[in-house]
Amino acid sequence: MQGLMMDASLLTSTILDHAERWHGEQKIVSRLHNGNIHSYTYSDAHTRTKKMAAALTDLGVEQGDRVGTLAWNNFRHFELYFAISGMGAVTHTINPRLFEEQVSYIINHASNKLLFVDLSFVGLVEKVIGNCPKVEKIIVLCEQDEMPTDSPIANLVCYEALIAAQTGDYVWPELEERTAAALCYTSGTTGNPKGVLYSHRSTVLQTMATVAPDVLNISACDSLLPIVPMYHVNAWCQPFAAALVGAKLLLPGGGMDAASIYELMETEGVTLSAGVPTIWLMLLRYLAENNRKLTTVNRVSVGGSACPLSIIRDFDTQYGVNVIQAWGMTETSPLGTVVAPKPEHAKLDAETRYQVQSTQGRPVFGVDIRIVDDNGTELARDGVMSGHLQVRGYWVCSEYFNVDMDSPLENGWFPTGDIASISTSGFLRITDRAKDLIKSGGEWISSIELENAATSLAGVTEAAVIGVRHPRWDERPLMLIIANDSTLSKHDILAHLQDMFAKWWLPEDILFVDDIPHTATGKISKLNLRQQYQDHFMQ
Ligand code: ADP
Repeated sequence: MQGLMMDASLLTSTILDHAERWHGEQKIVSRLHNGNIHSYTYSDAHTRTKKMAAALTDLGVEQGDRVGTLAWNNFRHFELYFAISGMGAVTHTINPRLFEEQVSYIINHASNKLLFVDLSFVGLVEKVIGNCPKVEKIIVLCEQDEMPTDSPIANLVCYEALIAAQTGDYVWPELEERTAAALCYTSGTTGNPKGVLYSHRSTVLQTMATVAPDVLNISACDSLLPIVPMYHVNAWCQPFAAALVGAKLLLPGGGMDAASIYELMETEGVTLSAGVPTIWLMLLRYLAENNRKLTTVNRVSVGGSACPLSIIRDFDTQYGVNVIQAWGMTETSPLGTVVAPKPEHAKLDAETRYQVQSTQGRPVFGVDIRIVDDNGTELARDGVMSGHLQVRGYWVCSEYFNVDMDSPLENGWFPTGDIASISTSGFLRITDRAKDLIKSGGEWISSIELENAATSLAGVTEAAVIGVRHPRWDERPLMLIIANDSTLSKHDILAHLQDMFAKWWLPEDILFVDDIPHTATGKISKLNLRQQYQDHFMQ
């Protein structure tokens, strides 16, 4: 027997409709490429988004077409998120920080006919467009008088001209909720990037989960600043989440330096922000060096890589800001697990609480996780055994877009490539990417655990540990440190680590460096480091 409830599809357009109807006056504030601030309301965004959906139809975009975007977090990109998916096409966000060959590969693989491009990425498009024969039109996200005049690309179209030509009486099509809404490629550290194709249903469900109390607890009273780029995993669904609850939304554009971010936080009364650890390291350094305080931010969410303990501690002790660590991946849209306290955590002292916050947290409803051994047998959740992390749920990828390969699923679970343990109370701890584990004399060493331990020492800003070829032990850990205290020595770090690890886990060598390379998605580029230091122990 069927229930007798109304049946309506879960669609991204309904999120924006709701924002317009019930939070129409709430603001969306963007920093533009010239540094100026643009401010308008959800109501304005709704009107313009419908005009853009109509313009897409006029441009010949059909349901299922993938429409490419190369843009920062700004109001036009926000409109495109809803206009493209709302009219039944697929918002294909392209990461401009990838290598040019990867950008053209992705554009071709997704068969993009239209590209929507920020002014600052027109130069990139000029370089790759010769290799992208299917692209028919390039629309620049700017005003008419800002259009490039000296571009070798003929017939660039102005975004604002498209909007101006429309009346705004567009009606959203009634789509089936499993229709594709957005496409995002993994950064492809091994092989070509692979496309993950999100549906309306998966996006709406994940957005509803994101705002829940034990996740990011986002409400209409929040001012939300996603620093995670809109070209990476839908900015962790934050633009959708802001609209769903009617929170004020701040979009920082390309102004990703600490001073610009800080200014936006203070002038716009940001309460919640989200970004990868490197963003927070940069902001904390800026705050300390310039003796600044955060007067409105009360929590920040962090994900993408393991969050150094120093970030959690500094935010709490210096600025009264709670750090919420989350784990996820492109293939999980990305929400997987989040550190949300349980009753027993209420009595913990600060340092023990930071340890909990430095785990990857527990699964939210809608996602399930487990760890398995090499044969696929589930391992105990005892906080000790570690194995391959698998995940399944409403917004987890079941296969990659348009590839000639079998489904990646193993017995209905998605293999994440991460090695992890799960505690008795359900908290996940990522030990490593399987490919980053260090094999020393036949035993495994976790690079993340060594990094976390090193960053818990005052004076250490960032730490990276890689396995490097060793004549006797196969591989040994090499630790790279960025320090903010010039008196810190190799001996200090080893002394700090030796209380926590068996002797054979300790780094074979420690190097102090000025910079640690990061990937296009803000993770420590271990591939790069391994190449750079591959012979360090062979000399
Ligand atoms: P890529 O495109 O490089 O795969 P993803 O953002 O999809 O980028 O990367 C997902 C991976 O990032 C996870 O499998 C995990 O290894 C790592 N990761 C994400 N969040 C965390 C976290 N909080 N702690 C540790 N590792 C994380």
